[in-house]
Amino acid sequence: MSECIFCKIANGDIPSEILYEDEKVVAFKDINPQAPVHILIIPRKHIPSVSDLEGNDYDVIGHIFKVANKLAEDEGISEEGFRLVVNCKERAGQTVFHIHFHLLGGRDFNWPPG
Ligand code: AMP
Ligand code: ZN
Repeated sequence: MSECIFCKIANGDIPSEILYEDEKVVAFKDINPQAPVHILIIPRKHIPSVSDLEGNDYDVIGHIFKVANKLAEDEGISEEGFRLVVNCKERAGQTVFHIHFHLLGGRDFNWPPG
């Protein structure tokens, strides 16, 4: 997807603070952080939203949880806890239509979410 901002970040076409990458996923700092730790983890494959997952895509989602645990360790929030969030489509507040997991930590979070 040539016009997708997260594809461009994954390809290195626009700059970002990348914290981890491998052949399947890229993790980078959110440009507008909502917590002391706010990292986005994306598959390199352009998948618009959770509703579009199919076939082998589900393997990448498992891998994203592994990368989230590694990053939580790296950031020192693994023991105290953190939040992993995926917004799916407009009603949940999704604004970038390349599936991404928010890894949020370093403060208390409320439940239910807003
Ligand atoms: P969502 O509302 O779940 O679609 O989240 C999109 C997230 O992408 C927001 O938290 C934005 O701050 C973040 N974002 C948008 N553009 C960039 C960018 N160029 N680099 C890093 N994060 C971005
Ligand atoms: Zn994309």
